[in-house]
Amino acid sequence: MSIQSGLPADFTPESFDAIVVGAGYAGSVCARRLAEACGMKVAILERRDHIAGNAYDYEDEAGILVHKYGPHIYHTTNERVDQFLSRFTEWTNYQHKVLANIHGTLMPVPFNHKSLKLAFGDEKGERLYQKLVATFGENKKVPIMELREKNDPELSEVADYVFENVFLHYTMKQWGKTPDQIDPSITGRVPVFVGDDDRYFPGAPFQGMPAEGYTKLFENMLEHDLISVFTGVDARDILSVGDSAVTVCGKPYGGEVIYTGPLDELFGSDLGALPYRTLDMVFETLDEDQFQPVGTVNYTTSEDFTRITEFKNMTGQVVPGKTTIMKEYSKAFTPGSDETPYYAILEDQNLELYRRYRDRVAGCLNFHAVGRLAEYRYYDMDGVVASALDLSDELIAQHN
Ligand code: FAD
Ligand code: UDP
Repeated sequence: MSIQSGLPADFTPESFDAIVVGAGYAGSVCARRLAEACGMKVAILERRDHIAGNAYDYEDEAGILVHKYGPHIYHTTNERVDQFLSRFTEWTNYQHKVLANIHGTLMPVPFNHKSLKLAFGDEKGERLYQKLVATFGENKKVPIMELREKNDPELSEVADYVFENVFLHYTMKQWGKTPDQIDPSITGRVPVFVGDDDRYFPGAPFQGMPAEGYTKLFENMLEHDLISVFTGVDARDILSVGDSAVTVCGKPYGGEVIYTGPLDELFGSDLGALPYRTLDMVFETLDEDQFQPVGTVNYTTSEDFTRITEFKNMTGQVVPGKTTIMKEYSKAFTPGSDETPYYAILEDQNLELYRRYRDRVAGCLNFHAVGRLAEYRYYDMDGVVASALDLSDELIAQHN
């Protein structure tokens, strides 16, 4: 692999078999597979000054490994994804735990057996827990919107408590809407857990942190003679997509183009801007060993920020006397600004707008949109890797 800043004056697109836009998971997985399985020469264009997309991590001034674009915890049930990524890193055994700060009391989220006892007291909490077990079974995940539909006074008491104290204010802060107004799959990511497992991703057989960090994982993935990475390059300056052909540097380009940015941006958002939520992330280094007991504390009844992450608690890094924390403030993304579009807003009219952009590129057979931005999806890392493995399977089949 070579990484260079900017495009050289003699950059010739036709000397590459594929051009990949974006060096996050979607782009890097495709680049590695096309280079490896088909011997294709790949150029990756990345507008940031680093690889790894939103998973990028680096050591801050205090020497603490932080995640620049928000806390990233690897978890998956997909064995193929796990095997692919595990070629490029060892994993720590970190099991992510989150506590909700509910009016000053810290309770496990997903809301579980222990949270019930903390919220309702030992005796009543146990009784309500047994009711949940009798209704749903043990070690079951129950989305809050499903629990709310149950017509039973005791289950309703639990549902009302969890809705009000875990979901309502946090969701208002994160999305500017109540849980009833957003797609139920979103709150369903953090279901009530009928059991004692107090991990944020109960049941995920593969979870942990890359032993040397995410950026190192990407360096290893991109380490291939046929891959060249050009950072600080906005692909829109040289690439345009027409009805049936892609143009790069002013000439028709016949190689494969893999695009992982927002689809509307390619067209100057001329059908309207795809809406996203963005985050202001406020980092702070404190002169203490540890700030909070777990990796992340969600502020579900108070504060303007949604959550605080303490990176040392996730990475296991030992730095005596110092720790770095980060607060997340969510807001609407302003199109055309230098904000980062972090979360697609899964509403019918937005998905319809996305489909109209997607239809526009459908006739361009060598143009492929993949990833969290380009597919306008709420993907975790493993979902993006799975999607990129699928796309690269198709391309490998065509080229071999
Ligand atoms: P990205 O990582 O966004 O990469 C796309 C790249 O394309 C970017 O580097 C961008 O600069 C580049 N690009 C875009 N347009 C252009 C252009 N015109 N020219 C050149 N380059 C361009 N997932 C988990 O599994 N666990 C977690 O704990 C987790 N936490 C998260 C926390 C937050 C706050 C967020 C926002 C996401 C989190 N995710 C998590 C999701 C994870 O970040 C994504 O699924 C994954 O990183 C998306 O990869 P991607 O390649 O699709 O997109
Ligand atoms: N959520 C909530 N309270 C919590 C945790 C999550 O209301 O304590 C809701 C909220 O709407 C959030 C969604 O569940 O956006 C998904 O949470 P997750 O932690 O998966 O969000 P992410 O890490 O992707 O930001």
